[in-house]
Amino acid sequence: MKTCPKCHGRLKMSADGKTQYCSICRYWTKIGTARLDSIMIYG
Ligand SMILES: [Zn+2]
Repeated sequence: MKTCPKCHGRLKMSADGKTQYCSICRYWTKIGTARLDSIMIYG
């Protein structure tokens, strides 16, 4: 899965599954509609 572009920590998926966030530096990004299967494996 993706890593944080700022601190290279792991990105966690938010509860609604639409964004990912970094618990270290609070960076967050929206998740696209594609690749939901791989996201579910990670979460
Ligand atoms: Zn980070």
